[in-house]
Amino acid sequence: ATPTALMVGTGRGAQLGILIKGPEVLESTRRVDTIVLDKTGTVTTGRMELKDVHAAPGVEERALLRLAGALEHASEHPVARALAEGAEAAAGPLPPVEGFENVAGLGVRGTVEGHTVTVGRERLLTDAGIAPLPKLAEAKAAAEAAGRTAVLVAWAAPGEETASVRGVLTVADTVKESSAEAITRLRRLGLAPILLTGDNRAVAESVAREVGIDPERDQVIAEVLPEDKADVVRRLQSEGRAVAMVGDGVNDAAALATADLGLAMGTGTDAAIEAGDLTLVRGDLLVAADAIRLSRRTLAIIK
Ligand code: ADP
Ligand code: MG
Repeated sequence: ATPTALMVGTGRGAQLGILIKGPEVLESTRRVDTIVLDKTGTVTTGRMELKDVHAAPGVEERALLRLAGALEHASEHPVARALAEGAEAAAGPLPPVEGFENVAGLGVRGTVEGHTVTVGRERLLTDAGIAPLPKLAEAKAAAEAAGRTAVLVAWAAPGEETASVRGVLTVADTVKESSAEAITRLRRLGLAPILLTGDNRAVAESVAREVGIDPERDQVIAEVLPEDKADVVRRLQSEGRAVAMVGDGVNDAAALATADLGLAMGTGTDAAIEAGDLTLVRGDLLVAADAIRLSRRTLAIIK
């Protein structure tokens, strides 16, 4: 009866939009007690939009958007795509970039029209010894408290020795409609939810609250660099937890492979799908709960 039960399980799985890599995956679904959720593209749609443009005194908004947009045009990060599209819509065709450099989980650098430009998280700039003006820092903090991701734009104009922060751009993501309900169902299956993201802590906590993850009682792990996400999973495992992880990005692949059960969003990157044990074809978190329930039931039939 074993092969039949498995086929029934996976057949029903296919109907629900769940692809399971192999029968050994079922056993892991029984054990998992913790579910780590990537934020961008997993709990949220990842379709970000440019919202606010704060230019430093003496800086034209158009120039700010042109230089930042040009650089982000070369990146595939969801934040970058939102900035490039928003900039092009507001400031017209974007100039070419020389010496483009992507700093994973932090931002981008390059030369645009003779300006040495950096666009990204505060950390990328403070590492280079550049701090934003108090007024821009305030705009940044206010945006983050409201759940928006703030991106700093700094440059050195031709002939200038050092760069300074010229503006803050903010982007907004939207929580997927089904995320809160999905987290309720995952809890009912005995899984403790943890939000994991490279994004700023204030943004992470705002999104967490929106989907019913309490930053005090549950865990919100923010500002984690892409290469450190797998370490977070390992640390949870060393605390004795059996960990499921849901993610979509290139930066989630190692964590998905490390987790006891890796669930990849079918709407995400190939790297994530290859690393996962299970694919949620439509990228809906509700199906993660279905997948775990269905696998457990299939396992019960086999045994
Ligand atoms: P997540 O874990 O939410 O998928 P990432 O690790 O990819 O996020 O990125 C973390 C943060 O780094 C982003 O929220 C953003 O603030 C910043 N960042 C990464 N890449 C870029 C970029 N190209 N431009 C601006 N900011 C970026
Ligand atoms: Mg993601």
